[in-house]
Amino acid sequence: MEVKEDYLKKLIKPRSDLFIEMEQYAKNHHVPIMQLSGMESLIHLLSLQKPRSILELGTAIGYSSMRIASKLENTSIVTIERDKEKVEVANKFIERANLQKRIQVIEGDALEVSDDLFQNMHFDAIFIDAAKGQYKKFFEKYAPLLNDGGVIYCDNLLLNGLSELPMTEVPRRKRTMVRNQHQFTEWLLNHPDYDTAFLPVGDGMLISIKR
Ligand code: SAM
Repeated sequence: MEVKEDYLKKLIKPRSDLFIEMEQYAKNHHVPIMQLSGMESLIHLLSLQKPRSILELGTAIGYSSMRIASKLENTSIVTIERDKEKVEVANKFIERANLQKRIQVIEGDALEVSDDLFQNMHFDAIFIDAAKGQYKKFFEKYAPLLNDGGVIYCDNLLLNGLSELPMTEVPRRKRTMVRNQHQFTEWLLNHPDYDTAFLPVGDGMLISIKR
């Protein structure tokens, strides 16, 4: 198993010094950012889709939004983060990469920010990468902002392996979160308004195309 992972790691493209610094920062400060294979897959899918506008839920230190903006040069991103400290760190990294004109960080709880903030705003893609176990709520609140033909990407459906365990082997305090993610996955795979596929890349991603 390790041999396979080492081999896959070698296939990941090299990143800029700033991105390596961010990956190291995330590691040192225990900030969960997207796994490299998931990040590569998402960037590649977005390169095919070519969205002009993306809404991201869960900025953390700005890593995923900056990696996306670096690759998709005509795309602007609005990203929401509830942790004030992370917002400050993200804004500093975004400025260092000179991406502040294309990435707007909104500080606040994505489930609580006023809908008025998004009046007249629509997005070609929405990327959900915030509190696990709340994805259905995020989806229901933000899906109305998606343009026809747009795509919603959801990360972390495998929950670092927890999703695949029998419930009896999941630590008790994590069972509600795991059940919620399972229910969300089933619900979305059967949603009549979206054509959804589950990709077992990174930590597991749901890709939903609005019909
Ligand atoms: N997308 C980031 C990346 O790959 O670089 C990683 C995001 S991290 C997995 C999840 C982030 O979502 C955390 O920083 C957390 O504070 C934030 N978060 C969780 N629930 C949230 C909510 N309801 N509203 C806004 N941010 C939230």
